[in-house]
Amino acid sequence: MFIDVHCHLDKLIDEGVPTDKAIKNAKKKGVERMIVNGTDHEQNKIILDLAKIHKEVLPALGIYPIDALKLSESEIDEEIEFIKQNKDKIAAIGEVGLDLKEEELHKTLDKQKINLRKFVNLAIKLNKPAIIHSRKAELHTIELLEELNVKKVIMHCFSGKMSLAERIAKNGWFLSIPANSHYSQQFQDVIKRVPIENLLCETDTPYLHPLKKWPNEPANVIYSYKKIAEIKKMKLTEVELQIEKNFKSLLE
Ligand SMILES: [Zn+2]
Repeated sequence: MFIDVHCHLDKLIDEGVPTDKAIKNAKKKGVERMIVNGTDHEQNKIILDLAKIHKEVLPALGIYPIDALKLSESEIDEEIEFIKQNKDKIAAIGEVGLDLKEEELHKTLDKQKINLRKFVNLAIKLNKPAIIHSRKAELHTIELLEELNVKKVIMHCFSGKMSLAERIAKNGWFLSIPANSHYSQQFQDVIKRVPIENLLCETDTPYLHPLKKWPNEPANVIYSYKKIAEIKKMKLTEVELQIEKNFKSLLE
């Protein structure tokens, strides 16, 4: 089976694509599981509801770094309590991380780190993988994760230097390759430099469509698999099996 480890089906609904349609399209391509990542409390609740109806939906609950900045310390703690209460229904903690895309976000870095520490410690406590966003803050993110000695990590859409991609793999963590690796040199380089034992595949639906259309869908995760097969000179079925093995090792 093919697996999309990072998508936002809840946001796809807002784009006029109902979840059952997206799942049907995905299953036609052999995509049987998708980790749907929450970005705030409302989305987290929606994702839990989606998982009740669709066995293909594996929830990851978290607060996106920029959204987390809008919350007080006690609101973050309340969300962590909420996630703990739902620990048996979830596959992962995410989407969490650090974001320094805008220059002015640099002054929020300390606060972002405090928030991320809380979510990563929660992931460790619950023995769930942490799905990590690290845009323009790759080194800060890796250093924090190393300091916390977290074992189960999925670095989503990693856009940092190749030396850092290798460091992630050396740490035994995973990098999830988005479907836009179809054209993106950055992700093709990651595929080249990182052993397949450290790769997973994702779409970041509705973003990052492999053919630069809108919106993206989990069905397109197949583009990531195909690019890995091409670069690693492997059969598609070999890639499929190895990625499934990688994925299952995280859920143990
Ligand atoms: Zn995302």
